[in-house]
Amino acid sequence: QLNQVSLLGLGAMGSVLASTLLGAGLSVTVWNRTPGRATALVAQGARAVDPVREAVAASPVVVACLFDHASVQETLGPVAEELRGRTLVNVTTTTPNESRALASWAAEHGIDYLDGAIMAVPAMIGSRDGQIFYSGSRAAYDALLPTFDLWAPSEFHGADAGRAALVDLAMLSGMYQMFAGFFHGAAMAASAGMSASEFAARQAPFLSAMTHELAALAKVVDDGDYTVPGQQSLEFSDLSHLVRASEEEGVDPAPVAAVQTLISREIAAGHGSEGFARIYAGLRAGAATA
Ligand code: NDP
Repeated sequence: QLNQVSLLGLGAMGSVLASTLLGAGLSVTVWNRTPGRATALVAQGARAVDPVREAVAASPVVVACLFDHASVQETLGPVAEELRGRTLVNVTTTTPNESRALASWAAEHGIDYLDGAIMAVPAMIGSRDGQIFYSGSRAAYDALLPTFDLWAPSEFHGADAGRAALVDLAMLSGMYQMFAGFFHGAAMAASAGMSASEFAARQAPFLSAMTHELAALAKVVDDGDYTVPGQQSLEFSDLSHLVRASEEEGVDPAPVAAVQTLISREIAAGHGSEGFARIYAGLRAGAATA
């Protein structure tokens, strides 16, 4: 029975999720708000139905890959009774609290809920490159693992339905700030007549090498002693000159100024001789008072 899946949402991601299941011989029913997006999937063997109620009724497992939390509520709210007794896997990107709210809603309606967070672009689905985090119903995860592994390597993050989304967003924080930092550097390098591509050729190996520092920085954080010798101090890490250079070149220093704000805040609090990893403590203190 678990080889019958209904997939709601045939955008860039939903289509490739459905196509991968079809390729593995599963029986797939698809639904999309706007008609006409299922043609290629139907040619591959999918059954396209409307309204959404019919798609939910067709399979014991319903996968939602919609736009956001609001679109999931809008789509699934009216079919809660049809979902009763079925497994709902929601891989739509949501915040942790939105995932928890959906899990509570699902529990109220007798729906087995598993939240998924996709760490991949559509082209990575079906390969070993991406990853999908899940949290919520352990039973649903265990039963569906062979299916999930068709999409990407899977990782279960526990019964708290919000945890997969939390870890996913934490991972994306680093990625987006790295990209923003790259664009800022490229904008500065443009003043030196360097194209973004020329800059990327230099930046990529440098950033790759720097990622080797993460484990050592993490150890300082986990040990909780920012004074251990051998670290780059906050005073040494002061980026005022980088902010100034950016301004001198007429480039908005916003990304690097944000980092400098974190550094100067810790220096002002008397931690200047401690390691750069100290900014972690400042960030966590913000979380405690937020
Ligand atoms: P698309 O924009 O390509 O597709 C969005 C889908 O959501 C469409 O099927 C759209 O239907 C549907 N939709 C939007 N609003 C509503 C609504 N109010 N009611 C019903 N259906 C609605 O997005 P993706 O497929 O790329 O992404 C889907 C989810 O997957 C998102 O949450 C995204 O964050 C997540 N994701 C995507 C990744 C990617 O690289 N693409 C990577 C990781 C996660 P319609 O055709 O009618 O507009």
